[in-house]
Amino acid sequence: MKKPKSKQVRIQSRNTEVQEIQLLEKWIEFGKPESGSNPLSLPPLPAKSPIGRIDENTYSQYAGCTKFQQLPISKNLKDGLRQAGYKNMTNIQRASLPHSLSGRDILGAAKTGSGKTLAFIIPVLEKLYKARWGLEDGVGSIIMSPTRELADQLFGVLKSVGKHHGFSAGLLIGGHEYDEEKDHVNRMNILICTPGRLLKHMDTTPNFDCSQLQVLVLDEADRILDAGFKKEVNAIVSQLPKHRQTLLFSATQTKSVKDLARLSLKDPEYIAVDEESIAATPNRLQQKVILVPLDQKLDMLWSFIKAHLNSRILVFLSTCKQVRFVHEAFKKLRPGIPLKCLHGRMKQVKRMFILQQFVEQRSVLFSTDVSSRGLDFNKGVDWVVQVDCPDDVATYIHRVGRTARYDSIGRSVLFLLPSEMKMLERLQEKKIPVEFDKPNTKRLQSVSGLLAALLAKYKDLQPLAQRAFKTYVKSIYKQKDKEIFDVTKLPIDDFSASLGLPMTPQLRYLNRKDIDKNTPGEPVSVPQIPAKKDFIRPKPSNDLLEESDDEEILDLLRSKETTDGDDAKAIAADNLPTTRVLKKKKLKINVHRPVGTRVVFDEEGNTLPPLARLADIGTTDSGLLDKQKVMERFAELREEMKTRDQEDKLLDRKRRKEKRIKEKEKYKRARNEEEEDDDEDDFSGSDKDSKKVKGSKVYFDSDSDGDMKDKAAIKTDEISLAEQEELALKLLSSMH
Ligand code: ADP
Ligand code: MG
Repeated sequence: MKKPKSKQVRIQSRNTEVQEIQLLEKWIEFGKPESGSNPLSLPPLPAKSPIGRIDENTYSQYAGCTKFQQLPISKNLKDGLRQAGYKNMTNIQRASLPHSLSGRDILGAAKTGSGKTLAFIIPVLEKLYKARWGLEDGVGSIIMSPTRELADQLFGVLKSVGKHHGFSAGLLIGGHEYDEEKDHVNRMNILICTPGRLLKHMDTTPNFDCSQLQVLVLDEADRILDAGFKKEVNAIVSQLPKHRQTLLFSATQTKSVKDLARLSLKDPEYIAVDEESIAATPNRLQQKVILVPLDQKLDMLWSFIKAHLNSRILVFLSTCKQVRFVHEAFKKLRPGIPLKCLHGRMKQVKRMFILQQFVEQRSVLFSTDVSSRGLDFNKGVDWVVQVDCPDDVATYIHRVGRTARYDSIGRSVLFLLPSEMKMLERLQEKKIPVEFDKPNTKRLQSVSGLLAALLAKYKDLQPLAQRAFKTYVKSIYKQKDKEIFDVTKLPIDDFSASLGLPMTPQLRYLNRKDIDKNTPGEPVSVPQIPAKKDFIRPKPSNDLLEESDDEEILDLLRSKETTDGDDAKAIAADNLPTTRVLKKKKLKINVHRPVGTRVVFDEEGNTLPPLARLADIGTTDSGLLDKQKVMERFAELREEMKTRDQEDKLLDRKRRKEKRIKEKEKYKRARNEEEEDDDEDDFSGSDKDSKKVKGSKVYFDSDSDGDMKDKAAIKTDEISLAEQEELALKLLSSMH
């Protein structure tokens, strides 16, 4: 009588598994935390509240829970965790698991020793369990570690908490018998490995197949993504399917855009749990600082907007006039996303109206600190772009606080001039987790040429541009913190040209009449600059335009001036290659040159006629803009094609996935039927393969000593038939 009973138990146990998976999926779907939200910020669940299904369509909340037992995870895993002594979750586990169990990509950072290992082992086991992964499915997850020792530790954790799951796991690390690994590697569901060893298998092991990979994990991701492993990681990732879940964990946030692009992360959840960072800025906020020379700021902003046409972007500029100019000019260039602006002159009602529109649809809002103050972006925005450096750290926090509200994720980017790098230190001192990065200039689209054409065409834009220029320079001049803001280091001619202005406007307070007082050609050594900085501190009178102040500013600018021939020498001596210096001679030439004939040099140093790049194509002024329209249309079409392409790809992927699932189901059905038909079948049966497929946990550990691995292969905790039956019965009785 025993055998029929065991068959029945097996069928029931399978049904129980299917039911459990269905329940878990519904439960997870029901309580999915908002993308970008931090479960840590939710109040903890009451200790005695029910867990799992509450009634027909209601399930218990798991975002915000504190115990592993409250999570929507399988009973197998709950048992494994409990037996390994894990009860309460650590912060990184609480913050990341509700997201990762819902299938999201994760970028998690928490101090060493904070429990990151379980934060990725749990979702790996559950993902495969819910997919009913079996030996025949091959490699379902790869967990990469930078060192053998760490890989070994991870393997240990996996074995202990995953012992009730039926997965095979392999440890692929250097220093062991490679050939023996080769024999097993294709039968492993979970591979824990170092990048070098994995790549070796990918390259040389016949039939090594990762095409069904479900989850990729990088532990100590910052180390794996750094230069040492770059080649290996690139080669590995290029062979993995893009449609997968990716989990990155490290002690520091690794958010370099390039790294993420390499790993094809999809809207990852940024999870940082260190106390200090939570205190200063929301931890769902990804904060980047990039170095942008003043004359490339608009190019960078334009390129940024063009690259984020589906977002809500809040752009901060220093002055009202800049806001108006950039808004007007960019509007005429039609980036393909609605542009709006908020400035101090607007009535509150209008501001609210604009704000409302901004929150409701993808668009770009240009604003100053003053006009945005007091307005609450209750839904948060996707991006805060600080084109101009904030006055101080408090203003920085205020600005980025506009994004990443409680229920949303946010990103921010701050453009800093080379002379403003001190601001980065200030932010870091205040424990604000900013990431400094060099911008990707490959995709930088230049707009200064287009702006020059616009300014020539729309006459009323020119005064706007001039005022934008003047007010910006003045705002820097008026800044109190001279360690960060140094008007003398602004490349003002280049800046003016970058706004499309044919010549640099006169700055009233930069009186140039005494310009020749300076010793011609005297080089300025770097140490002189800080010494002179003191001069431009505003006087207590606060009247910044006082004659004496002007003199001092002038003095400073002049100190870098040279006669023509010494220009290069002086700049070299200055060691500030991005800083161009006002020259008297240049001003004279500019004064007599008609508007719109700025001299441009080509790559060989020959002068080109005004707007040569566009004139090249032999168009008139209006033709220019037609050409531009055509280009825009092309760009739009390209975008459109891209989206369609993407849709097609998705569809194709979906179809292939459905096909795969069908095949798998067919296989499993056949297997189940075979099992049901075969009364004599049991685990001691002759079919060795099906034995492995069905019940056992095969752990292959290449670390174990030389003797035959097959022995070591079934290394851990195989549950006997009797134990299985007992477990299934327990499971069944617990369901009633
Ligand atoms: P990290 O990877 O962040 O450095 P680990 O995952 O190695 O941290 O965990 C550090 C230690 O904390 C390990 O000994 C681990 O067993 C223990 N640990 C992890 N999570 C928990 C938990 N929820 N409860 C108790 N101990 C835990
Ligand atoms: Mg770790």
